[in-house]
Amino acid sequence: MDRRIVGFHQDGEGHWVAELDCGHNQHVRHDPPWMSRPWVVTPEGRAGRLGAVLECKKCDQGAPPDRST
Ligand SMILES: [Zn+2]
Repeated sequence: MDRRIVGFHQDGEGHWVAELDCGHNQHVRHDPPWMSRPWVVTPEGRAGRLGAVLECKKCDQGAPPDRST
């Protein structure tokens, strides 16, 4: 299901996590050459992705929200 990015935070290992408007979180790792998301490591890049759409597999699975807000 397509969901919009409403924010970002870092997990305990420093990987970036997108916060989606459905209440789910989704990792958006920059781990080249496997996962190349150079935009995620800069504040400007992340700000530019606010409102962008990610496919939320947790919604497809009916998973409970990762956060309450
Ligand atoms: Zn979701």
